[in-house]
Amino acid sequence: MNDCVFCKIGSGQIPSRMVLQDEEVFAFEDLNPQAPVHVLVIPKRHVAAMNELQDSALLGRLFHVANLVAQKKGIAASGYRVVANTGKDGGQTVFHLHLHVLGGRQMNWPPG
Ligand code: 5GP
Ligand code: ZN
Repeated sequence: MNDCVFCKIGSGQIPSRMVLQDEEVFAFEDLNPQAPVHVLVIPKRHVAAMNELQDSALLGRLFHVANLVAQKKGIAASGYRVVANTGKDGGQTVFHLHLHVLGGRQMNWPPG
């Protein structure tokens, strides 16, 4: 999608601090981190939100990469949170599907 910031990050048009990638998925540091580790995992192709994701293989791949990110960032053993804010009530602000991988501190429940 032409005007989508995460499409541009996924294709390298906009610079980001990449953590890792495979053929379909890209992981990069959040610009405004909410925890010592805060990485976003996105599909390289444009999918607006969870509601629009029909491809269960891609969904599995996103979670697999989230797992690899946690290992690479050293939070796999201490624990972490994976979040997909979806739509208005979910607090989604960028409408290109992304998983937040948050860790390096104690997470609270319920979330705000
Ligand atoms: P959402 O609120 O949609 O779940 O999360 C969007 C996330 O994208 C936010 O945590 C925000 O800090 C991050 N973000 C927005 N624009 C950029 C950007 O241009 N670069 C990076 N690295 N992160 C961004
Ligand atoms: Zn996009």
